Amino acid sequence: MLLSDTLKMYSGSIETRAIHAGEPDPRIGGAVVMPVFQSAMYVTAGEKSYDDTTYIRLNNTPNAQALAEKLAALENAETALVTASGMAAISTSLLTVLSAGDHLLAQDCLYGGTHDFVTRDLEKFGISYTFIDGNDPESWEKKVRPNTKAVYVETISNPLIQVPDLEAVVEFAKRHKLVSIVDNTFASPINFRPPEHGFDLSVHSATKYLNGHSDIVAGAVIGGSELVQKITHRLNHLGGSLDPHAAFLLHRGVKTLALRVKCQNDGALQIARFLEKHPRISRVNYPGLESHPDHARAQRLFDGYGGMMSFELRGGVEAAELFMRRAKLPIVAPSLGGVETLMTRPSRTSHSGLLAEERKKLGISDELIRFSVGIEATRDIIMDLEQALETTVQ
Ligand code: PLP
Repeated sequence: MLLSDTLKMYSGSIETRAIHAGEPDPRIGGAVVMPVFQSAMYVTAGEKSYDDTTYIRLNNTPNAQALAEKLAALENAETALVTASGMAAISTSLLTVLSAGDHLLAQDCLYGGTHDFVTRDLEKFGISYTFIDGNDPESWEKKVRPNTKAVYVETISNPLIQVPDLEAVVEFAKRHKLVSIVDNTFASPINFRPPEHGFDLSVHSATKYLNGHSDIVAGAVIGGSELVQKITHRLNHLGGSLDPHAAFLLHRGVKTLALRVKCQNDGALQIARFLEKHPRISRVNYPGLESHPDHARAQRLFDGYGGMMSFELRGGVEAAELFMRRAKLPIVAPSLGGVETLMTRPSRTSHSGLLAEERKKLGISDELIRFSVGIEATRDIIMDLEQALETTVQ
């Protein structure tokens, strides 16, 4: 029994679930911390089927199971599956829910890897797709087809930080009997828990906030038992399972998720307000700002606005590059959700796989900077941004 009776008494608080859910009970050898079980296979003990064999690729070894239970508890879901990367979680989920001849509705602005998978890989499996504007539910009716099986969105989109009409997505999916899938990476379970809002599946790049320390690649699928079981079966064949040592690091990272994300929520709001007022900044995308078109929705649905924003400087690519060179604290690197502040130009990194016209159509300019707020002192980051902006060309 992993989830103890004691925890059930206190399970209303996500902070407590992050620490105690999924921990072995009784603790193994008295160890306060879940140990790493670095063993590929386990002694046969009369299992009746292949899937019951204990083997790392089958996602049923102790570290994978304990972590899956913790992640499910974070989002108040029935179950979870830990994967070798966010893309393993996304691709395996889509390849489970969709078969040859099926059709997918997907939000038009997605993480570049997901966008590429939908536009370039799915058709090789005989699966078609249509993009939808996440903020225009009426237009979805014209796009749904008799063979549409799923709808896919991001809680907060990468890199434009839009918040689609999440309530309408769930209602639409239920009405048309579609599987609703949301990439909850940017929001994290601290700010939004998709299963509580009726989504069938929540997928994560656990590389980002869930782990939080920029030292592993991992993913997660969270949702109802029946569907996650099917995805597990598919993952067992595709092979995107997480190594126990990476699972151990992710397990450790999740314990401080609430502390980190709350700090990042606070810091990001202050930084977004600072940038919005700065004369050398022309546009800031952050859902905590009153000026953000989806602010009211974010306020209603989220427990915090997250640590992710994007912005543009006056002066185009040249000004953006100079600013990124002059800022000393934020690290220029193509990921997010770590304890260190990170920034990147998506047109050169996460979204470089899209054609220039595709990026232009979506509103991803070449000068757009995506900014992931860390847990440094916010005043230090603001001081650093201020000096970098002062010296940047107009
Ligand atoms: N989803 C989002 C929103 C991302 O930003 C990323 C990676 O940047 C992924 C999924 C893919 O995750 P991974 O790199 O862990 O495969």
